[in-house]
Amino acid sequence: MKSVDFLIVGGGVTGTTAAQTIRGLRPDSSVVILSDEPYELYSRILLTSYIRGEATQEQVFLKRNEWYQENRIDLVKGVSAQKLDANAHTVECANGDVYQYKKLLLALGARPIKLNVPGSELGNISYMWTIEDAEEVINALKGTNESRRPGGPLTRRGVVIGGGFIGLEFAHAFKVKGIETTILDGSEYYWGNRLDKQSSQVIQNILEKNGISVIAGEMVEKFVGSRENPQNVGKVITKSGKEFGCDLVGVGVGIKSDLGWLEGSGIKIDQGIVTNEYLETNLGDVYAAGDCANYYDVIVEGQHLVGTWANAATQAVAVGKTMTGVKTVFEAVCAYTARFFESTCSFVGMTEADFADEVVTRGTVAEGKISRIFLKNYPSTSSGSMTRIVGAIIANNFGEVAPITDAIKNKVDVSQNRDKLADANFDLHSLPIS
Ligand SMILES: Cc1cc2nc3c(=O)[nH]c(=O)nc-3n(C[C@H](O)[C@H](O)[C@H](O)COP(=O)(O)OP(=O)(O)OC[C@H]3O[C@@H](n4cnc5c(N)ncnc54)[C@H](O)[C@@H]3O)c2cc1C
Repeated sequence: MKSVDFLIVGGGVTGTTAAQTIRGLRPDSSVVILSDEPYELYSRILLTSYIRGEATQEQVFLKRNEWYQENRIDLVKGVSAQKLDANAHTVECANGDVYQYKKLLLALGARPIKLNVPGSELGNISYMWTIEDAEEVINALKGTNESRRPGGPLTRRGVVIGGGFIGLEFAHAFKVKGIETTILDGSEYYWGNRLDKQSSQVIQNILEKNGISVIAGEMVEKFVGSRENPQNVGKVITKSGKEFGCDLVGVGVGIKSDLGWLEGSGIKIDQGIVTNEYLETNLGDVYAAGDCANYYDVIVEGQHLVGTWANAATQAVAVGKTMTGVKTVFEAVCAYTARFFESTCSFVGMTEADFADEVVTRGTVAEGKISRIFLKNYPSTSSGSMTRIVGAIIANNFGEVAPITDAIKNKVDVSQNRDKLADANFDLHSLPIS
């Protein structure tokens, strides 16, 4: 058994930034990161630039081995934590190693949900989460180049399964590489599990303008191998019986934290690991942060599960401080913007429709930009109640991200301006920030 002051499971941006914060505050402590990936920290955000050939592999890696040595952070690579005993303060790994911790941070991130249909194992069906995934996409793109026969059809065809951020990244990357691209989305309309119909149409119009076909209401039944290379995908068949010939497939059907190994530990889980505003779990000396944490958001006053780089990095600093005894509330408005074909789609703050009391829509499909603003009523001692913006989904209307973020952060009472919010000409910068 190895004893360690600060044990961190997960070597992504959360785990690494927390380790760095702890090191700064506790120069003499031992800090160990267990990572089931065989690499130092790299940027998931840059993976798509890497795939598109706009960033080198060297640029994707954010930390080198020397950095861990200089900071005396012991990065144990390629090792998976598989059991937590919170009473004994131990974590057991798949290779049999056991670590006894004084403080434990779970920085487990999330993983892509895999499609489990016949033919899923065929070549050139890729996900986009790890550096290996990116290499796979690059190889699939190269492969489709090489398999282009002289005199054969010039167009290579790619199918993207799933609307959403990763689907958008795939579609953009395929198109940049000259692939004829079709997006299949299982919802009633494109990206229907997160967008309303109008915002969906705004994004779909941009995609179609850029030559991408979008087909909603189609679920994958199976993949079939190609005639020339039966080990590689050649066709997607949907549950309705439609067939889409293709040379490669990109899958983006959602992500989920892998928390199965924590079962039986007594830790509270509700989609993510439940924490308070200090990122403390219900178990003593056990903390969670980043994509795997369902934390108490003090700004909107509710539990919140977020999957963004900035959120992960800022939570990591807060939790690193708290773990060293400098108790720090995590307080930030999260925001994520996908950029595609010079357009954007942003999610800001809390965008779960169930959480809001009302949703206001600004803009129209015809204008090509729509912001949906989520409002919530809060009791207030002075005026009885107040209405605040808690989140927004902003389709191709990037200029509204900053004022909406400010309004959420500053808990602006919009009761007086409620009716004006729906007017796209009303300048959100004029909302009174006290
Ligand atoms: C292609 C792509 C583009 C993105 N673009 C953006 C963007 O533009 N903007 C943005 O804000 N966000 C973006 N994101 C999301 C962002 O990258 C994540 O929110 C962020 O990486 C989360 O960091 P994390 O440290 O919490 O989790 P992760 O980066 O997932 O790291 C967690 C690590 O823990 C490891 N792990 C899990 N379980 C165990 C275990 N039991 N034992 C050992 N190790 C374990 C995992 O393998 C992983 O290495 C993008 C993500 C992808 C994939």
